Amino acid sequence: MRLVTFLQNGESRLGALQVQNGQELVVDLNSAEPRLPANILEFLAAGEVARTLAADTLQRAPATAIHELKAVVLKAPIPNPGKIICIGLNYRDHAAETNQALPEVPVVFAKYANTIIGPGEPIILPHVTQRVDYEAELAVVIGKRGRYISEAEAMSYVVGYTVFNDVSARDYQMRTSQWTMGKTFDTFAPFGPALVTTDEIPDPHALDIGLSINGETLQDSNTRHLIFSIPKLVAYLSEVMTLEPGDLIATGTPAGVGFTRQPPRFLRPGEMVRVEIEGIGVLENPVQEE
Ligand code: MG
Repeated sequence: MRLVTFLQNGESRLGALQVQNGQELVVDLNSAEPRLPANILEFLAAGEVARTLAADTLQRAPATAIHELKAVVLKAPIPNPGKIICIGLNYRDHAAETNQALPEVPVVFAKYANTIIGPGEPIILPHVTQRVDYEAELAVVIGKRGRYISEAEAMSYVVGYTVFNDVSARDYQMRTSQWTMGKTFDTFAPFGPALVTTDEIPDPHALDIGLSINGETLQDSNTRHLIFSIPKLVAYLSEVMTLEPGDLIATGTPAGVGFTRQPPRFLRPGEMVRVEIEGIGVLENPVQEE
């Protein structure tokens, strides 16, 4: 399933993307089956039972619950995750381009709820920085509460994946050893359009991942180059914190980011940033001046 959160009459709804006869549609799951919650965190917390019910519902949704994709507004698929956990320096080529040694343990930082935007929503360039950069990332979504999760069991705690852009103001990021200030400006965590469930992605460690701006390819890699695999990350993070349904883990970016280019290349007003991950989707966000 390709789960989305969308707005209808100002109300946030849980839906699923479908293609029928070449047309992209959104099925309103809660309207088609009132036992399904309209809120994705409640849906994820209800686990396998709710997912099976949603899959059945898609087979028999009435026409009144089906909308054309272009007739609705998509939000970030998880509008209010409990955690946005980000992994730094998790691709060999990116560690090399930033002249940093390969990490021996994952580099972990966080983003807050103020950073979240959905597909099509603008990345706002704050007037206090001229060094706003992009980072294409595969984000993992947790589906089941857990602590001290073993690597062997880790994938059973993952419900799906989404496309993430770890937008970063490099000057604020690098003023101090802690990156938080550069990573947490409003609008700096676009993700979506859908949460794609694991049954659709047989191997998350073999996906092409890329980023382009106005048609120019700037990042072009594959998730097979991750230094710390998804099970390693889930196991390591859960040594410290209870992972909850809806928590996001952004797994790091490959080479090609703007600040390491010659000359450096930062986001400019009017540009369209496009992140694409094979099998998961395309996330596009325009860039706007504050
Ligand atoms: Mg990153």
